Amino acid sequence: MKRILLSVPHMGGTEQAYVREAFASNWLSTVGPNLSAFERAFEDLVGLPAVALASGTAAIHLGLRLLGVGAGDTVFCSTLTFVASTNPIRYLGAEPVFIDSNYETWNMDPSLLAEALRQSEKAGKLPKAVVVVDLYGQCADMDAIRTICDRYGVPILDDAAEALGAFYKGKRAGVLADIAAFSFNGNKIITTTGGGMLVSRNRAWVEKVRFWSQQARDPALAYEHSELGYNYRMSNVLAGIGRGQIEVLDLRVRQRRAIAFRYRDAFADLPGISLMPQASYGLPTNWLSCFLIDEREFGSSRDELIRVLDEANVESRPVWKPMHLQPLYAGCECYGGRVAEDLFRRGICLPSSSSLSEENQLHVINVVRSATGASALAQKIQSDCVAEAGHYGV
Ligand SMILES: *Cc1c(COP(=O)(O)O)cnc(C)c1O
Repeated sequence: MKRILLSVPHMGGTEQAYVREAFASNWLSTVGPNLSAFERAFEDLVGLPAVALASGTAAIHLGLRLLGVGAGDTVFCSTLTFVASTNPIRYLGAEPVFIDSNYETWNMDPSLLAEALRQSEKAGKLPKAVVVVDLYGQCADMDAIRTICDRYGVPILDDAAEALGAFYKGKRAGVLADIAAFSFNGNKIITTTGGGMLVSRNRAWVEKVRFWSQQARDPALAYEHSELGYNYRMSNVLAGIGRGQIEVLDLRVRQRRAIAFRYRDAFADLPGISLMPQASYGLPTNWLSCFLIDEREFGSSRDELIRVLDEANVESRPVWKPMHLQPLYAGCECYGGRVAEDLFRRGICLPSSSSLSEENQLHVINVVRSATGASALAQKIQSDCVAEAGHYGV
């Protein structure tokens, strides 16, 4: 049996035609019709001006620069996240201050954020921005976070890398922030092999990022530069993949959600294993199917479960290691931290590819079941779960 991986690319079928167009027309650079068409499709989807970049990290980097982040500044950031949320803060010479999650959403705790802003105002050093992460495709409680940030005039950058296709109170992930960043890395909901998108209500900002991403060349015949630029633009070839992928985005989200709920249902009779909470205000992408293990009830630890899965040729991973525990960010201030530490210690991500076959899902399910000594499920029960996916709005 081939190894079952955590999250792999899943093409829709039309991507190669767009890529062939790029070759046929020789638009094999960071300019061309695929780029404008992909950006237009993205703008239509999200309803905001968008610029296609080389990565989600580049989108966060340029987004923070738009917000004026520079040397000596501080930026608040969710501690429970992937390192790419935080590194761009350092690229700009600023320092992160980490904020813990709450158990209800696994995302930034608004009451801790309020406390952190209150204290930093008292100390006379408000952050330049707050990076809010929509973890594993679940939107943070943006209304609450917005209200608090508005009180202090601090802008929000939404790291929605894992949340393309998610909703918060009926609105698309990213639209309530000042700036949002998305990723098309190979392991994300949809992919361009590597790539990202920055969106903002402020069209002038989006145009500024387009300018910076192409080496900030002034509009003159000669190569003249008055601002510092980057080589961060997406390629027209990869934008062709993006055009095909965006056509199947909503289907990919439904497929990922169906897997998460199929796992949940298949573990319903097992003690000590529970799906990441699904906040009632939104519709997450369930980019990765995350579960919490209670070692005493489950009968084995999270790490032991990872080992058993590995032996059965199944890749699984711990939930992100919080940033305040990273050697790279040792010494950075952190408000709270115990919740993220606990989720990191007990959380596991199971294979979640939208292309994961029912047979492979059943294999994952039965390896998890075997780890607690429960009997295997038959294919029949599996199919019932598929039909039931409709109950969850997928
Ligand atoms: C993947 C990811 C990123 C970075 O996106 P890239 O396109 O890989 O640069 C940023 N933040 C989070 C939370 C991610 O999961």
